[in-house]
Amino acid sequence: MKAEIIAVGTELLLGQIVNTNAQFLSKELAAIGIDVYFQTVVGDNALRMKQSIETAQSRADIIIFSGGIGPTQDDITKDVVAELLGRELHIEQRSLDKIEQMFTSRGTLMTENNKRQATLIEGATPLTNETGLALGNAIFQDDHYYIILPGPPKELKPMFSNHAVPWLQQHALTGEMPIYSKMLKFAGIGESMLEDKLKDLISAQTDPTIAPYAGEGEVTVRISTKAGSESEAMVKLNELEVQIQQRLPEHLYASHDIPIEHVIVEMMADRELTLGAAESCTGGLLMELLTSIPGSGTMLRGGIVCYTNEMKEKLLNVPHAYLEGEDAPGAVSPEVAKVLAEQVRMITDADYGLAVTGVAGPGYSERKKVGLVYIGIAERGGETEIHELNLSGNRETIRIRSAKTLLYRLWRKLVENEKLD
Ligand code: ATP
Repeated sequence: MKAEIIAVGTELLLGQIVNTNAQFLSKELAAIGIDVYFQTVVGDNALRMKQSIETAQSRADIIIFSGGIGPTQDDITKDVVAELLGRELHIEQRSLDKIEQMFTSRGTLMTENNKRQATLIEGATPLTNETGLALGNAIFQDDHYYIILPGPPKELKPMFSNHAVPWLQQHALTGEMPIYSKMLKFAGIGESMLEDKLKDLISAQTDPTIAPYAGEGEVTVRISTKAGSESEAMVKLNELEVQIQQRLPEHLYASHDIPIEHVIVEMMADRELTLGAAESCTGGLLMELLTSIPGSGTMLRGGIVCYTNEMKEKLLNVPHAYLEGEDAPGAVSPEVAKVLAEQVRMITDADYGLAVTGVAGPGYSERKKVGLVYIGIAERGGETEIHELNLSGNRETIRIRSAKTLLYRLWRKLVENEKLD
């Protein structure tokens, strides 16, 4: 089964909004074994929408629409599809009742155009909107499956997952074997290096399939297979995972889709280890990543954002001579990273102290190049570890990569320490 997504909305063409619905739908369709070969974007124009649908009919079995089913005159998706299929549009009573109730409870008058949200193409299955008013539609005609969804992501997502997917499974996917996937998560390695290490496996792949995706500071590899049962799939997927793990033992940190900070919080909480961090160029980003994980309260003692030299001296006891003067190594240096890591560990009385200091750009700092970053990990009763990073990208990517690399190095240290225990 091949699908095409048609995102409707002039706002998308003008670049005013990003087509995140297409991204969501593509991912979800892949997860149920449906290939998406094309994503189309078309404005709120009946003629061009009609042309897009005709093109999609020539190359896809399933056509999924996002947007253009609201109350206003430019919301024409259902009208265009109905006309093309030669069907009438009716009002679906339950959906209309819901809209009327909503207006009554708010004490406002329902205008006539709001009824448009309750329309159903003759013969279509209504798709309930759990978080909004516009009714979705699903219909099969002439070897094609059509699914019409609302534009707002908070409405589209539950409608697709809870109503459209079951409809597809019942009508379009009968007889097809389900697809099972595993997400392998890697850190401390770029996508191209990872692909190189798995080159032969990727080019020989038939079943399971291997698909790497680059993220910021992390790479995900999805391995998928079609099988009659989950246990049958897991045998195949686990076998491939072992092969991949043997090639990249220092980088594979999880076998499901979680960020590295999540793994760290779990590992440290399990072992009753604690952490403190001193951040300069990341300005609290490391703390933000860690505190967003539930359970971080048990392992995270605190963090200090020491952006200026003055704060590095005052809050973290960095010697003045390290920061200023002719021969001073400067704030972006291994010497300062070391003091920051050791001091923050002592100040927070934690088992590990993390530090990051660097040039996030866009301008040079201390005549050091953009992307030069030092990270440090101090350990109670252990040696402090310092790494120099030479990162590329803009200010945002350098900051996130610095934080993620530091987390990766901490993960490595925790794994190594575990082996020694
Ligand atoms: P409404 O009832 O709000 O009119 P609708 O189903 O007619 O809903 P649109 O009018 O096309 O949908 O879009 C409504 C809003 O939904 C947009 O302003 C935008 O915020 C969001 N949206 C629409 N399409 C997309 C998309 N492809 N990706 C992400 N967000 C989208």
